Amino acid sequence: MLSDKIITWNEAVDPRAGIENARTLFVETFGTEPTGVWSAPGRVNIIGEHVDYNGGPCLPIALPHRAYIAVSMRNDRRIRLVSPQTREQIDELDLDQIGPRGSEYEVTTWAAYLAGVAWAFERAGYGPLQGFDAALWSCVPRGGGLSSSAALECAMAVALDDLGDFGIAGTVQAPHDEGRKILVDLCRRAENEIAGANTGGLDQTASLRCRAGHALALDCRDMSVAHIPFDLASEDLALLVIDTRAAHSLADGQYGQRRADSEEAARILGVNLLVEAEDVEAATRVLSEVGADSQRLVQRTRHVISEIARTRAFIDVLTQGPLEGERLYVAGALMNDSHDSLRDDYEVSCEELDVAVAAARAAGAYGARMTGGGFGGSAIALVRLNEAEKVARTVARAYADRGWESPHFLTAIAGAPAGRDI
Ligand code: ADP
Ligand code: MG
Repeated sequence: MLSDKIITWNEAVDPRAGIENARTLFVETFGTEPTGVWSAPGRVNIIGEHVDYNGGPCLPIALPHRAYIAVSMRNDRRIRLVSPQTREQIDELDLDQIGPRGSEYEVTTWAAYLAGVAWAFERAGYGPLQGFDAALWSCVPRGGGLSSSAALECAMAVALDDLGDFGIAGTVQAPHDEGRKILVDLCRRAENEIAGANTGGLDQTASLRCRAGHALALDCRDMSVAHIPFDLASEDLALLVIDTRAAHSLADGQYGQRRADSEEAARILGVNLLVEAEDVEAATRVLSEVGADSQRLVQRTRHVISEIARTRAFIDVLTQGPLEGERLYVAGALMNDSHDSLRDDYEVSCEELDVAVAAARAAGAYGARMTGGGFGGSAIALVRLNEAEKVARTVARAYADRGWESPHFLTAIAGAPAGRDI
């Protein structure tokens, strides 16, 4: 019977186990002990989607799921990398032979996310570096919109910071936020230029600058942050993450088009970024006049302006106190409205996300929405702690009814930032 079918939970491993897994892989692969093990979390955004490049606020938490990397420096400029997913083969590179996409030394494998960070360090004047051996072990689901890529980069960045004695990041317990902003930029350069992925820095900011037990209210105009207490378990709640495992090839091109639409709307409205256009009605009046593109630009702008307002409202609700009573319902409604706006106005959802969200709501979630860029990836649902399993089963059944492969699930609590001793 379907209800008895085992559903897949991708829960995070305990940090001690993560460290041990990376260390063991290092020893088995390279035959010596690593100098140390560093780690960094993936992230999930609670609300504030497709507003980062419009200068708006977003509200990610670091996942308890982390990438662990065991590293030792070498006496030459070689880099040797291993991950359980690429075990048969050690990826070997040379620090002098790493270059941007399309160049002679482009790196087209997963190694780009690690070697790219070393490249960015040297480009920014932190170096020359020595080569290194590294073993990666990660429990951040890959390609699920939960930033497994940023987790790799940020773990590498704090490792290189410590091993090179640069003193940029501070520790998990006493983080140096100004330094971490520098590392965000280096990781982002690695992802944009070496891995060739067009991302905006939100993922790396969450991984490097969050705090355990807190959501990160990030103002994307100036990248300033505030740490908002976010401890759902103590309120008998959970954030259920539904990794649809759907990935639509549209994602890249559509992302670029949404950015272009936003820029176009801002230009017509006479503002630098849509965050400055606060009034939906006034913006709609102006954009309605522009002819063929007007309906589309009205929709895009309506999403951005309303999502910014929803995110601010959500941050207010969290700041007022525990998510209970009225506050819980308001928070859930804001999440629901966010999804509907992304689906109908911004048009970045997909059937798999919509089905997951509808099923979660029907099973009693207070709120549910897609998270991340869209066209696949993950959805989140705010649920009673003891109902997470029931909601997950309902979503799995909705998928089975359509003949789709089951999604994977995890529950997210706000984890610690990148560093060595978690
Ligand atoms: P997301 O960041 O949403 O998980 P991306 O496509 O940005 O998805 O990044 C996924 C890529 O990151 C993978 O294709 C792979 O290159 C790299 N990666 C992530 N985790 C690992 C891992 N454990 N081992 C090797 N490569 C990994
Ligand atoms: Mg990524």
